[in-house]
Amino acid sequence: MKYIGPHVSASGGVENAVVNAVELNANAFALFTKNQKQWYAKPLEKETILKFRNLCEKHGFQPFQMLPHDSYLINLGHPEKEGLEKSRAAFLDEMQRCEQLGLDRLNFHPGSHLQKISEEECLNRIAESINITLGKTAGVTAVLENTAGQGSNMGFRFEHLAYIIERVEDKSRVGVCIDTCHSYSAGYDLKSEEGYQATWETFDRIIGLRYLKGMHLNDSKKEHGSRVDRHHSLGEGTLGLELFKRMMKDPRFDDLPLILETPDEDRWAEEIVLLRSFQE
Ligand SMILES: [Zn+2]
Ligand SMILES: [Zn+2]
Repeated sequence: MKYIGPHVSASGGVENAVVNAVELNANAFALFTKNQKQWYAKPLEKETILKFRNLCEKHGFQPFQMLPHDSYLINLGHPEKEGLEKSRAAFLDEMQRCEQLGLDRLNFHPGSHLQKISEEECLNRIAESINITLGKTAGVTAVLENTAGQGSNMGFRFEHLAYIIERVEDKSRVGVCIDTCHSYSAGYDLKSEEGYQATWETFDRIIGLRYLKGMHLNDSKKEHGSRVDRHHSLGEGTLGLELFKRMMKDPRFDDLPLILETPDEDRWAEEIVLLRSFQE
């Protein structure tokens, strides 16, 4: 079965994310468990945790249908000691918030070298950051997202993600999220039928489908290989609808959170209906 929904707002409390997802008739969703633009957040209150868990139960959201995303400030491959430590502390806090909310995975962008260290050194730091965090938490999988490769962001090649996974000690708690817009911008041709098949074969060979823990379904405003990260509404961008039609019929994407991060939230309900119609 396909589980589809957008990255909804959690403003006013994380429990509102569930309500917002239900209103859109979504059976999956993503959320931030704290303000994503700030380093620190006050701990989740017991009552908030209870409300979130109760609403999930009431509306039938199991952990695999939810894909929380961490703050964009965090850089687990930071070249400098202070930035790295701050990022690791914030990431640990985010993992612990997921634990408290009963969420089983946390999606994040791997990290950036900021032109100060080599790509390899950056990837090593990311792997070390994951090992440190997994050692202090339980039950939550660290889900690396592939990137468009904008600026000095790592994770735009499947090889980067495989390199990190190889260095993570607990392989049962590391996974990946593939973003369709990022993949296309990074140079993977998901648009043509042959490109689609080849990309997923490459993915399985280099990373392994067993590590796939979620998908971001976005069209792109930029050209194939542009290395620029700009999402578009489904069917409006350079990718077009064929990719999403193929995905909806592809059993490799069953039982995963398939998350819309498309820019026009007024179209989310209609995008969900459209995606579901492609299954028939
Ligand atoms: Zn994404
Ligand atoms: Zn993006």
